[in-house]
Amino acid sequence: MTKAIFLDRDGIINVCPGQDKFVLNWAEFRFMPRLRENLKRLRAHGYFLSLATNQSGVGRGLMTLDTLHEIHSNMQRELGTEAFDAIYFCAHHPDAGCSCRKPSPQMILQSCADHGIDPKQSVMIGDSNRDIEMGTAAGCRTILCKEKLPTFESLKPQQRPDRMFKTLSEAVEWIVNDE
Ligand SMILES: [Zn+2]
Repeated sequence: MTKAIFLDRDGIINVCPGQDKFVLNWAEFRFMPRLRENLKRLRAHGYFLSLATNQSGVGRGLMTLDTLHEIHSNMQRELGTEAFDAIYFCAHHPDAGCSCRKPSPQMILQSCADHGIDPKQSVMIGDSNRDIEMGTAAGCRTILCKEKLPTFESLKPQQRPDRMFKTLSEAVEWIVNDE
Protein backbone atom coordinates (compact mmCIF):
# COMPACT_ATOMS: atom_id res chain seq x y z
CA MET A 1 0.00 0.00 0.00
CA THR A 2 0.96 3.58 -0.55
CA LYS A 3 2.11 5.84 2.26
CA ALA A 4 0.99 9.45 2.20
CA ILE A 5 1.42 12.84 3.73
CA PHE A 6 -1.89 14.63 4.21
CA LEU A 7 -1.42 18.37 4.33
CA ASP A 8 -3.67 21.14 5.47
CA ARG A 9 -3.59 24.13 3.11
CA ASP A 10 -3.85 27.56 4.81
CA GLY A 11 -0.91 27.98 7.20
CA ILE A 12 1.02 24.97 5.82
CA ILE A 13 1.06 25.37 2.02
CA ASN A 14 0.23 29.05 1.81
CA VAL A 15 0.47 31.86 4.31
CA CYS A 16 -2.55 31.83 6.61
CA PRO A 17 -4.73 34.86 5.86
CA GLY A 18 -5.57 35.14 9.57
CA GLN A 19 -7.99 33.48 11.94
CA ASP A 20 -11.49 33.26 10.47
CA LYS A 21 -10.23 34.84 7.25
CA PHE A 22 -10.09 33.26 3.82
CA VAL A 23 -7.93 33.36 0.72
CA LEU A 24 -10.64 34.57 -1.64
CA ASN A 25 -8.69 34.76 -4.89
CA TRP A 26 -5.36 33.74 -6.42
CA ALA A 27 -3.88 37.23 -5.93
CA GLU A 28 -4.08 36.69 -2.15
CA PHE A 29 -2.34 33.31 -2.27
CA ARG A 30 1.29 33.29 -1.01
CA PHE A 31 3.32 30.10 -0.74
CA MET A 32 5.04 29.40 2.58
CA PRO A 33 8.85 29.60 2.52
CA ARG A 34 10.74 26.51 1.20
CA LEU A 35 7.45 24.80 0.34
CA ARG A 36 8.52 23.26 -2.99
CA GLU A 37 11.75 21.99 -1.47
CA ASN A 38 9.80 20.33 1.37
CA LEU A 39 7.27 18.70 -0.95
CA LYS A 40 10.09 17.49 -3.20
CA ARG A 41 11.84 15.90 -0.24
CA LEU A 42 8.70 14.06 0.88
CA ARG A 43 8.05 12.78 -2.64
CA ALA A 44 11.68 11.63 -2.93
CA HIS A 45 11.00 9.47 0.13
CA GLY A 46 8.07 7.80 -1.58
CA TYR A 47 5.14 9.69 -0.11
CA PHE A 48 1.92 10.37 -1.99
CA LEU A 49 1.00 14.02 -1.39
CA SER A 50 -2.64 14.70 -0.61
CA LEU A 51 -4.19 18.04 0.30
CA ALA A 52 -7.10 18.12 2.77
CA THR A 53 -8.62 21.55 3.35
CA ASN A 54 -11.74 23.15 4.79
CA GLN A 55 -12.77 26.03 2.52
CA SER A 56 -16.02 27.22 4.00
CA GLY A 57 -15.57 30.59 2.27
CA VAL A 58 -17.57 28.94 -0.52
CA GLY A 59 -20.43 27.82 1.75
CA ARG A 60 -20.43 31.23 3.41
CA GLY A 61 -20.96 32.87 0.03
CA LEU A 62 -17.61 34.71 0.11
CA MET A 63 -16.29 33.05 -3.05
CA THR A 64 -17.59 30.72 -5.72
CA LEU A 65 -16.63 27.09 -6.21
CA ASP A 66 -15.16 28.15 -9.57
CA THR A 67 -12.82 30.56 -7.77
CA LEU A 68 -11.70 27.81 -5.38
CA HIS A 69 -10.95 25.55 -8.37
CA GLU A 70 -9.07 28.41 -10.03
CA ILE A 71 -6.92 28.94 -6.91
CA HIS A 72 -6.11 25.24 -6.80
CA SER A 73 -5.32 24.95 -10.50
CA ASN A 74 -2.99 27.97 -10.25
CA MET A 75 -1.38 26.47 -7.15
CA GLN A 76 -0.81 23.17 -8.96
CA ARG A 77 0.64 24.92 -12.00
CA GLU A 78 3.06 26.93 -9.83
CA LEU A 79 4.13 23.79 -7.95
CA GLY A 80 4.97 22.10 -11.25
CA THR A 81 6.71 18.77 -10.59
CA GLU A 82 5.88 19.20 -6.88
CA ALA A 83 2.13 19.51 -7.49
CA PHE A 84 -0.18 17.52 -5.19
CA ASP A 85 -1.16 14.02 -6.27
CA ALA A 86 -4.69 14.66 -5.00
CA ILE A 87 -6.74 17.53 -3.57
CA TYR A 88 -9.69 17.11 -1.22
CA PHE A 89 -11.70 20.01 0.12
CA CYS A 90 -14.85 20.70 2.10
CA ALA A 91 -16.53 23.80 0.71
CA HIS A 92 -19.57 23.59 2.99
CA HIS A 93 -20.74 26.09 5.58
CA PRO A 94 -19.80 24.97 9.12
CA ASP A 95 -23.50 24.78 10.01
CA ALA A 96 -24.42 22.72 6.92
CA GLY A 97 -24.03 19.45 8.82
CA CYS A 98 -21.92 17.85 6.09
CA SER A 99 -19.82 14.76 6.77
CA CYS A 100 -16.59 16.00 5.17
CA ARG A 101 -15.65 19.08 7.19
CA LYS A 102 -12.64 18.63 9.51
CA PRO A 103 -12.34 17.37 12.20
CA SER A 104 -14.22 14.60 10.35
CA PRO A 105 -11.65 12.12 8.98
CA GLN A 106 -13.66 11.71 5.78
CA MET A 107 -11.31 13.56 3.41
CA ILE A 108 -8.39 11.38 4.53
CA LEU A 109 -10.44 8.17 4.42
CA GLN A 110 -11.69 9.05 0.92
CA SER A 111 -8.14 9.71 -0.25
CA CYS A 112 -7.02 6.36 1.22
CA ALA A 113 -9.85 4.55 -0.58
CA ASP A 114 -9.21 6.35 -3.87
CA HIS A 115 -5.46 5.82 -3.94
CA GLY A 116 -4.75 2.63 -1.97
CA ILE A 117 -3.16 4.51 0.92
CA ASP A 118 -2.47 2.93 4.31
CA PRO A 119 -3.32 5.55 6.97
CA LYS A 120 -1.05 3.80 9.50
CA GLN A 121 1.98 4.50 7.31
CA SER A 122 0.84 8.08 6.75
CA VAL A 123 1.12 11.42 8.49
CA MET A 124 -1.30 14.36 8.76
CA ILE A 125 0.37 17.78 9.02
CA GLY A 126 -1.70 20.80 10.00
CA ASP A 127 -1.71 24.01 11.98
CA SER A 128 -5.02 23.59 13.79
CA ASN A 129 -6.37 21.28 16.47
CA ARG A 130 -9.01 19.96 14.09
CA ASP A 131 -6.28 18.80 11.67
CA ILE A 132 -4.81 16.70 14.45
CA GLU A 133 -8.21 15.39 15.51
CA MET A 134 -8.92 14.44 11.88
CA GLY A 135 -5.58 12.68 11.42
CA THR A 136 -5.93 10.77 14.68
CA ALA A 137 -9.48 9.67 13.83
CA ALA A 138 -8.23 8.39 10.44
CA GLY A 139 -5.47 6.35 12.11
CA CYS A 140 -2.54 8.48 10.91
CA ARG A 141 0.35 9.89 12.86
CA THR A 142 -0.02 13.63 13.32
CA ILE A 143 2.19 16.71 13.37
CA LEU A 144 1.05 20.11 14.58
CA CYS A 145 3.03 22.72 12.70
CA LYS A 146 2.74 26.41 13.57
CA GLU A 147 4.80 29.38 14.67
CA LYS A 148 3.17 29.67 18.08
CA LEU A 149 2.84 26.16 19.46
CA PRO A 150 0.52 25.39 22.38
CA THR A 151 1.68 23.40 25.38
CA PHE A 152 0.88 19.71 24.98
CA GLU A 153 -1.04 19.70 28.27
CA SER A 154 -3.38 22.48 27.13
CA LEU A 155 -4.72 20.29 24.30
CA LYS A 156 -7.68 17.93 24.52
CA PRO A 157 -6.58 14.27 24.35
CA GLN A 158 -7.93 13.75 20.80
CA GLN A 159 -6.13 16.91 19.67
CA ARG A 160 -2.67 15.97 20.94
CA PRO A 161 -0.25 15.44 18.04
CA ASP A 162 2.58 12.92 17.89
CA ARG A 163 5.00 15.78 17.29
CA MET A 164 4.97 19.59 17.24
CA PHE A 165 7.25 21.77 15.11
CA LYS A 166 7.40 25.47 14.27
CA THR A 167 8.06 24.95 10.56
CA LEU A 168 7.21 22.45 7.82
CA SER A 169 10.94 22.04 7.17
CA GLU A 170 11.43 20.67 10.70
CA ALA A 171 8.40 18.39 10.32
CA VAL A 172 9.75 17.01 7.04
CA GLU A 173 13.16 16.49 8.61
CA TRP A 174 11.58 14.42 11.38
CA ILE A 175 9.49 12.35 8.93
CA VAL A 176 12.40 11.40 6.68
CA ASN A 177 14.68 10.60 9.63
CA ASP A 178 12.04 8.55 11.46
CA GLU A 179 11.64 5.95 8.69
ZN1 LIG B 1 -18.18 19.36 3.88
